[in-house]
Amino acid sequence: MRLRVSISGVVQGVGFRPFIYRLAQELHLNGYVLNDASGVLIEAEGGEEKLNDLLGRIENEKPGNSKIFGLQFSFLEEAGFEKFEIRQSRENGPKGASILPDISACEDCIEEVKNPKDRRFLYLFTNCTNCGPRFTIINSLPYDRKKTSMKDFTMCPDCSAEYTTPTDRRFHAQPNACHVCGPWVSLYDSYGKLICQKEDAFERAVNLIRRGHIVAVKGIGGYHLVCDALNDESVQRLREKKNREERPLAVMFPDIESVRAETEISQMEERAINSVEKPIVILKKREGTSLAAAVSPGNSTIGAFLPYSPLHYIILKKLRQPIVATSGNITDEPIVREESEAFERLSKIAEFILTHNREIVRRCDDSVIRVISGKQVPIRRSRGFVPVPVILPFSLSKPVLALGPQMNNTIALGIDNKAFISQHIGDLDNPLAMEFFEETVRDFLKFFDVSPKVVVSDMHPGYYSTRFGEKHYSDRLIKVQHHFAHTLSCMADNDIPGNTEVIGFAFDGTGYGTDGTIWGSEALIISEEGYRRVCHLRPFRLPGGDKAVKEPCRTAFSLLFETFGDEAAELDLSPLTGKEKAFFMNMISNNINSPLTTGMGRLFDGISSMIGLKHKVSYHTQAAVLLEQAALRSGETGSYPFRIEEGIIDYREMIRNITDDLRDEIPCEIIARKFHNTVTDIIIYISESIRKDTGIGRIALSGGVFQNSILLENVNLKLKEKGFIPLMHQNVPSNDGGISLGQVVAAGLQEK
Ligand code: ZN
Ligand code: ZN
Ligand code: FE
Repeated sequence: MRLRVSISGVVQGVGFRPFIYRLAQELHLNGYVLNDASGVLIEAEGGEEKLNDLLGRIENEKPGNSKIFGLQFSFLEEAGFEKFEIRQSRENGPKGASILPDISACEDCIEEVKNPKDRRFLYLFTNCTNCGPRFTIINSLPYDRKKTSMKDFTMCPDCSAEYTTPTDRRFHAQPNACHVCGPWVSLYDSYGKLICQKEDAFERAVNLIRRGHIVAVKGIGGYHLVCDALNDESVQRLREKKNREERPLAVMFPDIESVRAETEISQMEERAINSVEKPIVILKKREGTSLAAAVSPGNSTIGAFLPYSPLHYIILKKLRQPIVATSGNITDEPIVREESEAFERLSKIAEFILTHNREIVRRCDDSVIRVISGKQVPIRRSRGFVPVPVILPFSLSKPVLALGPQMNNTIALGIDNKAFISQHIGDLDNPLAMEFFEETVRDFLKFFDVSPKVVVSDMHPGYYSTRFGEKHYSDRLIKVQHHFAHTLSCMADNDIPGNTEVIGFAFDGTGYGTDGTIWGSEALIISEEGYRRVCHLRPFRLPGGDKAVKEPCRTAFSLLFETFGDEAAELDLSPLTGKEKAFFMNMISNNINSPLTTGMGRLFDGISSMIGLKHKVSYHTQAAVLLEQAALRSGETGSYPFRIEEGIIDYREMIRNITDDLRDEIPCEIIARKFHNTVTDIIIYISESIRKDTGIGRIALSGGVFQNSILLENVNLKLKEKGFIPLMHQNVPSNDGGISLGQVVAAGLQEK
């Protein structure tokens, strides 16, 4: 096995590469270490245990003068290194490659803000060369105070002295500031009336949160909506005002002990939540948790994270209890960045607004991670990770701009052997999100100072990103099929070039197929020639189209109709009335606004409703999430029969069996588990039959359905048992947030 570690930032001190070299020698690992414009790159080969050892020791034993600003790692196939070497540095890289992500507050800075004797006691914008905002405050390059949103603050003599003293921790710390010279906070009511400023504002805000109020708090990459996470009434009010009925809200905890008290957190999860990127980590709630039920109603997990700026740190320190800290936006709109936006939009939700006078140049949401199969799986790659590049398995000769999909959009720039993936932009279906998308395209091109020679979009004619590409880059636009992009993204995430023979499973809710229908359950054979679609679900209709996505009971009925025909109306298995059944039956059989789909995500939705878990969703993965959580409560190992003929996965036998189980009053947990086991069986069956014909043994697992922990874990395990090499996402999400990486790879294939 090969471990790749990318450490972002200028790791200070000449001792770092020799330190890595010594560690590798000690552990008998082969590979290399080198410096480049984006930081330090390490690759080492050996047994998994030793590689994990190496990873832990890099973080724990690094030389005293070196700092790690970001650390991304992936486990890859061996490359066959014969020794360990310090390689020649590759200093040349695109302009912009040296820009760091926003770095969470370091221990030294936290000590200062905690110390009543320090001149930065309780100073909310404390930072040093080892920490603080970067990506979100830089206007243009080179990285210099004049070109950041700190330009309006002139350093006081004390700060200047620190800034100019080479031995000081704040030597050339561009955002350096203190009580005397730096930014401060102001508290407003929801009508925009100033209440108070500086320390008073902060104290008041903390008290308001304590007393149950909703406060919009300006942070690093945007505003959070904050309230007491133990106060059910406050959380419920926040939910109602934000128009977010049931989707879990992120909770920020004062410290790791308080996370342990409310959740069941594993060692790997602790590593993730404590990591320098400080992402939100999806954790299982403890039975009898004191968190308000409204934080994640009907859901066994929450998104937890720790404070990452002095401002958050001090709020939590004063409150000594967890807070809800959800993105400051109206559902589906981008996170709010400016004061004017906050007063206009957040004042409808928040009762008070705690803002500050350091401008946020770029919006950047919190990142989200889940640990599955003992690996860190990204769900949203944003603050802390962006703009650290993902290394490509080949070099591009021309710069590439990838425009991403419609949902969960990110864009990416491909330059040389790197893909610079943007922060989370979101669903491009409202004017503000579209504006944010265009703003990010312009920003990345300027930041990295390239003009793209190839531009890539999805094939879907209705996607905003596709239309943007057609409008502005029609002379150099290539369109890449959605599920091919998913698979290429997963391959690149495992350092496998896109022209290598791989079997790809791309399972998601929806994606535009080359035949104009909706795909989403693809088994693809990837080779030098491109991709071949070899298997997919038997198509079924979605009565009402998008309406069926919001109301899985419609999809459930459609699946029953496929299986039982007209008799479906006689079954008393769905919550639908006789009239509704007749209505949907008419729509389906006469093809009235009932598009065909083969989306695996839709099958999960339909089953979730069929067994009574969720008939109407309030956010788009809800039915599948509840199906997974039900299945997690069962240890059932059985599965349902299925048929695959001529590349069509026929689920009707399974549906028949599920209806039998329902009639026999088998608990929904067991049915849910058997369904997951069946999907696993289908993947194994298809993999084995393709391997028999082609000899291909590598299996890429991509698409949003693989955010499902049971499925990903079981498929991974079973594939290994059968001698396959499963590839799962490690640095980019398997959902549509990873599409832009796959699009960059597709442009690279075109070059060849
Ligand atoms: Zn610091
Ligand atoms: Zn100062
Ligand atoms: Fe997708």
